[in-house]
Amino acid sequence: MILLPTVENLSLAADVLRGGGVIAIPTETVYGLAARITDRVALETIFRIKGRPSDNPLIVHVSSIEQARGLVSALAHDSLERVAGLFWPGPLTLVFPAADTVSTIITAGLSTVAVRMPQHPIARSIIDECGSPLAAPSANKSGRPSPTTAQHVEADLGPEVRIIDGGPCRVGLESTVVRVMSDKLIVLRPGIITMQELRDRTGLPVDHAGTAEDLNGSPGTRYRHYAPNAHVVLTYSISEAFNFLAGGDARAMLLARPELHAEFQGQIVGSLTEHDLYAELRRADDLHVERIVVLCDGTVQCHEALMNRLRKASQDGNEQDSGT
Ligand code: AMP
Ligand code: MG
Repeated sequence: MILLPTVENLSLAADVLRGGGVIAIPTETVYGLAARITDRVALETIFRIKGRPSDNPLIVHVSSIEQARGLVSALAHDSLERVAGLFWPGPLTLVFPAADTVSTIITAGLSTVAVRMPQHPIARSIIDECGSPLAAPSANKSGRPSPTTAQHVEADLGPEVRIIDGGPCRVGLESTVVRVMSDKLIVLRPGIITMQELRDRTGLPVDHAGTAEDLNGSPGTRYRHYAPNAHVVLTYSISEAFNFLAGGDARAMLLARPELHAEFQGQIVGSLTEHDLYAELRRADDLHVERIVVLCDGTVQCHEALMNRLRKASQDGNEQDSGT
């Protein structure tokens, strides 16, 4: 059920959470399915509703650095203050050694916890009003593109789940996830906050999650997610895109930057931007498109987070067959 973000409905959301329920909430990245971090049953409900594998940990959302301190091992409090102070509130999730009190349902048994302070005023006011940090993965069915509108959430999770409607998400891609070490940062999932920005603002070295050890520390990165029903093909030039649009009988949609749409008159076209990507993948399914031809021109290729999601949505991703 979609609810307008009135004062009454925000109170209702906090009541539902305090009573052990779950609520879908808007954030600036994507919509999240939230539960209080101390509510075992509600946390299990999140995994059940989403069909999420239990080895995929949840991000905890806070409304203050003070709340985050309660989740993170005391040994890492200095690093937390330093990095969070630079980027929060915002689309950056920080992974630290967890305090002993954090539920193993949230950490999926890892020794670390992922924490973020969202910028979205509705998310923050619900956390404040319910008085507890909220664990919240993306509010989609596992394997579906993340939801960037309340209608996407309802389409995936059905009418029983209550959804606070904050309109379309400003960013539209999931947060950057970073493991914070004492002497460096490791990017576990690229996002709108880039490696260069992390380097420039923290002064620390920033690495890709290259090793198997890094990736095992972030199980969600192993799964193939963000996938629509249609087959996604990545192409790297206008002529290659035309070849795939023309080849075979499949009903096809072209995804390209809006500036390039004029080249493809007469085709079904969608906007290839970080803000629109997930909505367009869902629209392709609604239109029963069988093939999505993505034009990854030079500008798109430079966008690390967008390319990461496109590879996962396509057959080029070598991940497993289920997602978050
Ligand atoms: P989602 O909330 O669906 O966007 O997915 C959460 C992402 O955060 C997944 O890729 C998880 O693997 C990652 N994540 C959550 N907790 C941890 C953690 N403790 N260590 C590393 N990655 C994490
Ligand atoms: Mg997800």
